[in-house]
Amino acid sequence: MLGSPLEKYDFALTIDGRSYGVREEFEVLNPASEEVVASAPDADQPAVEAAMKAALRAAPAWAMTPVSQRASHVYDFANEVAEHLEDLSHLLVLEQGKPLASAKSELFSSLDYLRRLADIAESELEFSAANLPRGTKVIRKPLGVVAGITAWNYPVQLACSKLAMAVLTGNATVLKPSPYTPLTTLALGQLSRDAFPPGVVSVLSGLDPLGEWITAHPTISKIGFTGSTRTGCAIAESAAHRLTRLTLELGGNDAAIVLPDANIEAAAEGIIASALENTGQLCNAVKRVIVHESIERDLTDAMVDVANSLVIGDGMNASTDLGPIQNRMQFERLKALRESVAQEGGTFHCGEQTFSGPGYFMAPSIISGLSDASRLVSEEQFGPLVPILGYDDVDQAMVRANSSPFGLGASVWTSDVDKGLALAEQFEAGSVWINHHSALSPDYPSGGHKLSGLGVEYGVHGLEEYTQHQVIRIAT
Ligand code: NAD
Repeated sequence: MLGSPLEKYDFALTIDGRSYGVREEFEVLNPASEEVVASAPDADQPAVEAAMKAALRAAPAWAMTPVSQRASHVYDFANEVAEHLEDLSHLLVLEQGKPLASAKSELFSSLDYLRRLADIAESELEFSAANLPRGTKVIRKPLGVVAGITAWNYPVQLACSKLAMAVLTGNATVLKPSPYTPLTTLALGQLSRDAFPPGVVSVLSGLDPLGEWITAHPTISKIGFTGSTRTGCAIAESAAHRLTRLTLELGGNDAAIVLPDANIEAAAEGIIASALENTGQLCNAVKRVIVHESIERDLTDAMVDVANSLVIGDGMNASTDLGPIQNRMQFERLKALRESVAQEGGTFHCGEQTFSGPGYFMAPSIISGLSDASRLVSEEQFGPLVPILGYDDVDQAMVRANSSPFGLGASVWTSDVDKGLALAEQFEAGSVWINHHSALSPDYPSGGHKLSGLGVEYGVHGLEEYTQHQVIRIAT
């Protein structure tokens, strides 16, 4: 057992480079035990005003700071986070539920995003265009103060990447974690106090309507949001009044099309690795498996074998592969989806057992026999329920894959990479993988088509969305 990380952080708001106290708090539960991990501050409107004022005050000087210096602050912050890797990973398990090894890989990935985005901003993002006629200048300016609103599935990685994109491009930022997982982001806020000038990074936690107070605030000129499509649409509606810039990373219902020539064992391993990553609570997990009828039985059996080999439990147990569902609301939603499977003619091939609790544990299920219109297939499940659907014509399989209103990711599984490449371009999805699924990188733009999002994050293109152009011309 590691030493408790709970004594190492103040779990206070970070405003103007300091901790900031508020009167109200809310409890954060461990989803494996349903016990209280700690309390987090419930930011009130005066706290929001204080954060906005501090950010607005800090923004002009930060915008004038050369990108190399901004990158060096991000590096300093990454080094701070690296020193706290063990404690933050432990804390992440306590509030999010994922296994400790997965929490550590989220931390390593967060460091990679911080450092790679710093490198990209410094070396690849053009803040002023070259080769223009004399007397003309085209520059990229920061937007001002950016709100970063994050979901509960990858709280550390989302906070770190949103912080990096905002501040590297010369903006001040106000971050708000999900009320289900505020502790690691509050700890990151504490670590940011020494790494950045006061006001450049603020962290506010709280219950509803804190997100609305922040995103609708007149100080905010851009919102970087990761969460559900429903909330993303509500934010877009409220942002319309001020034309607040938006990047929305939303829900998905990713299809994996498995061709008859796929390596069945490898496909089963790879599809399960994606579909059950973070107990299925991953935006771009495989959420529908569309497999050629000739191999449907074999693939189903192979997937069941992999799923049955996974150990479900508390993330702090070294043997655990799958932690609990993160919160009760999502747990109840998934239980209702499971019930819908029986009503809609589906067959469970594994995962029918239930757990008596405490904790929001759910066994992974591989399910066949459902129609495309069934709830489990047409909705985003965001949990360990994996529907398998047969096809006999690959063109029809592609139509079905694209029939979803979502368009986050997709994959094709085949031993013929050229065939895979030809199909890949037919998907209506922001990311497409061949013989794997879910991997993202700080180097490439990530975003959703259709209801899965607006704009992109990461890579040069993602960083550009945190800036705006200005053209300056001298009379000739
Ligand atoms: P959610 O939309 O309920 O909440 C996301 C965040 O928005 C939270 O911080 C929440 O407090 C805040 N919020 C809620 N209402 C708000 C409002 N009116 N104004 C401003 N902020 C508000 O989503 P969730 O349940 O935390 O996350 C799960 C969803 O996120 C899934 O649909 C998943 O696919 C999606 N997701 C997408 C990506 C991606 O990159 N596309 C990554 C992770 C998660």
